[in-house]
Amino acid sequence: MKEIRVFCPATIANISCGFDVLGVALQSVGDEMIIQKVAQKGIRITKLTGQNLPTETHLNVAGVAGLALLAESDYEGGFEIEIHKKIKAGSGIGSSAASSTGAVWAMNALLGSPFSKLQLVKFAMEGERLASGVAHADNVAPALFGGFTLVRSYAPLDIVPIPSPPQLWATVIHPQIEVRTSDSRKILKTNITLADGIKQWGNLGGLVAGLFTEDYDLIGRSLIDHIVEPIRSILIPGFDKVKSVSMETGALGCGISGSGPSIFAFSKGEENARNVARAMKEVYTKIGIDYDVHVSKVNVEGIREI
Ligand code: ADP
Repeated sequence: MKEIRVFCPATIANISCGFDVLGVALQSVGDEMIIQKVAQKGIRITKLTGQNLPTETHLNVAGVAGLALLAESDYEGGFEIEIHKKIKAGSGIGSSAASSTGAVWAMNALLGSPFSKLQLVKFAMEGERLASGVAHADNVAPALFGGFTLVRSYAPLDIVPIPSPPQLWATVIHPQIEVRTSDSRKILKTNITLADGIKQWGNLGGLVAGLFTEDYDLIGRSLIDHIVEPIRSILIPGFDKVKSVSMETGALGCGISGSGPSIFAFSKGEENARNVARAMKEVYTKIGIDYDVHVSKVNVEGIREI
C-alpha cells in the first residue's frame, strides 16, 4: 500500500471534571487527509484546504508529529500529506489533534504498523506541543483510540480506554469568537483547595463509573467542574445562558469543550441532542454571534481509513 485516505475525528477534551485527562472522539465531524509514501526523505504538506494554516513541515502539527514518528523509524523514505480541514483551528474541538493523529496513524499503517497506539499518542503529542506549547494528550488519545479515554498518567504515559454507552450523543456549539489557548491557560489558578479537589475527583470517578455501567443519571450528576469552568467561562459570552437552556432542554450535562470557545452538552438519545442544539442556537442568534453546531454520536472507532 502506497497511499491511504483517512477520517480524523474532532474531539472534546476535559469533559467538565476531567481537565487535561479526559477526552472523547466524535462521529460526524472531522478532517480528511491523504498520505502517500514517497522515496524522497522527510515530510511535505503538498495541499491544505478549508483553513488558512501553514504548510511548512515544521509549522504544521501534521508535519511535526510525522517527523517525531520518522525519528523513531528505520524507514528510509518519506511522506507527502494532503490535509482537508473541516474542523476550524482554535475552535476547541481538537483541530490540531485531528491533523497530528491523522498523520501518524496513516504513516504507521503505510509502514505495516510497527508502532503501538500508545507510541502514536506520544508522536502526536509533539504536534500538540507546537499548537499550544503543552504536549497534552487529552485530544490525541481519543482520536487514536476512539470513544472516551482517560490519561491516567503523563509520566509514564498511561492511556485507559473507557467504553461509551450506546445512547450517548454530543451537541457542540462553536460561537465564532476568538479565545486564544494561551489566554485561557494563563487565567487558570495553579493551586486548588482540598475541598475543590475532593469535589472534582468525586465527579471524575462518578463519570468514569457511569460510562462503564451505562448509568446516564450518574453521568449527568458527575458532569460538574468546580475548578476550571468557573474561571474560563468568563471568556465565553453567553456561556451561562447556553448551559442553563441546555439543562432545561434535557441535557445530562454541559461544559466547555477543550479550552473553548466551543461548548458541549451530552444527552441520552439523538432527539434530545437535537433539541439541545436548537436551544443553544437560539441563545447565540439572540446575542448576535455566528455559530457552527455539531450533533454527533460518540465515535468508538477513532481514526479510520475511508
Ligand atoms: P484546537 O483546540 O481546535 O485544537 P488549537 O488552538 O489546539 O485548536 O490548535 C490550533 C493551532 O495549531 C493554531 O495556532 C494553528 O495555526 C496550529 N496548527 C498548525 N497546524 C495545524 C493543523 N494542521 N491543523 C490545525 N491547527 C494547526
